[in-house]
Amino acid sequence: MQSTQTSDEPVVITRGEHGISRKQFSPNAIKVLYRLKDGGYDAYLVGGCIRDILLGQQPKDFDVVTNATPEQVKKLFRNCRLIGRRFRLAHIVFGREIIEVATMRGHHEAQEAKNQISQSSEHGQLLRDNVFGSIEEDAERRDFSINALYYSINDFCIYDYANGLAAIQAKQIELIGDPETRYREDPVRMLRAVRFATKLDMSIAPKSEKPITALASLLDNIPPARLFEEVLKLFLNGKAEANYLMLRQYGLFKSLFPVLDKILDKNPDGLEAAFIQQMFQNTDKRINADKKVTPAFIFAALLWFPLLERTTKIKQQEQLSYFDAFAQAMNKVLSENAQHIAVPKRFTLGARDIWHIQQRLDKRAGQRAYRLTQQPRFKAAYDFLLLRVDAGEQQHSELAQWWTQYLSQDINGQKDMVKNLGHQGGPKPRKRSRRRTTKKPSE
Ligand code: ATP
Ligand code: MG
Repeated sequence: MQSTQTSDEPVVITRGEHGISRKQFSPNAIKVLYRLKDGGYDAYLVGGCIRDILLGQQPKDFDVVTNATPEQVKKLFRNCRLIGRRFRLAHIVFGREIIEVATMRGHHEAQEAKNQISQSSEHGQLLRDNVFGSIEEDAERRDFSINALYYSINDFCIYDYANGLAAIQAKQIELIGDPETRYREDPVRMLRAVRFATKLDMSIAPKSEKPITALASLLDNIPPARLFEEVLKLFLNGKAEANYLMLRQYGLFKSLFPVLDKILDKNPDGLEAAFIQQMFQNTDKRINADKKVTPAFIFAALLWFPLLERTTKIKQQEQLSYFDAFAQAMNKVLSENAQHIAVPKRFTLGARDIWHIQQRLDKRAGQRAYRLTQQPRFKAAYDFLLLRVDAGEQQHSELAQWWTQYLSQDINGQKDMVKNLGHQGGPKPRKRSRRRTTKKPSE
């Protein structure tokens, strides 16, 4: 393998050599390139889209890089909005497709003393990265060599500044520059390394792999909103199981889900580990079959064992009923998680519903079973029960079978099933007595 430093003399891969046809790119991205070119600027397609096409995969999105500043880009496009603080970008909006246009980044060290557009923290983390530069400098600032490939519409060549093509052929994810420094600058690169390794069926190069475990705790310094985005990318891209196993292997999972990580460490072959792995397997199956997956379900599952552990603790310490302890534990577990990962409220509400319904699934007498099925999260909660049984909670397998049968019946069949429950369905709900409206005696 050659060096992971960038070179000012890129390897130029001609149209005949790379074999990519323009048709493989989004027409909107090509439009953006020509508009920038006609405006007198340099512009390239860069990063994931070139890498994915070379690997025979369909790119998720198309990123453009240019020497125009975000303001200059905005002047050229009516459908442009500027976003980001840490990293200022222009988004060109074509209906549902967004072409991201970044301005070439330069070295921050030289600029640091002069101005505030680049800032780093005590851990070496880059807090802002808005120093603009040349294409050579831009290549150096990119994360992995496979992501520093540029496609030009001037000559239809690919410019490879960091031996990215060789890395693609060797199936290696390698950071550009000194791995420790680059992880410190942006610890999220550790998560990206894992995501690309599983997505592209590659391995992380030994030098890039080595510092990860020791630096994993730097993820604590990442804003929780950004971590939420990254976690979603890891778990909703159809490779969740592989990502989960690799995050565990490198000690990164601990920084994301510390309480669950401890539980898994205590009993690596236990029911908990089976449950989490099964959940990710199911998630991947659904994603790959184009079915919907809600983050509410994933977070409900990831925090389920921490929730049960916390409930037991609170119940003992505060002498509360299981139900009350469970409610308190939900608040605690969610607020602790929010310190690392900012899960939006609509998903935490969903997770709460799924957890609540777990408590009520065995109470089926009277109208209760029917009413439960009318709850918006009932289907997710039922799937959650199936997952628990699949992972080894055999004590609930009869209950799960009952619900499966119930859901396959028509209304009369369902009524019969409830009647046949006898005492199993929990106490019959008390009939509400009609309140008598007695007239108050007039004073
Ligand atoms: P995908 O879109 O498939 O997730 P991608 O490589 O296009 O993969 P993006 O997040 O879209 O990833 O980023 C586009 C490009 O920007 C990357 O290819 C990389 O060159 C650069 N980049 C993104 N994030 C970072 C980062 N944290 N540090 C350095 N460079 C980055
Ligand atoms: Mg991309």
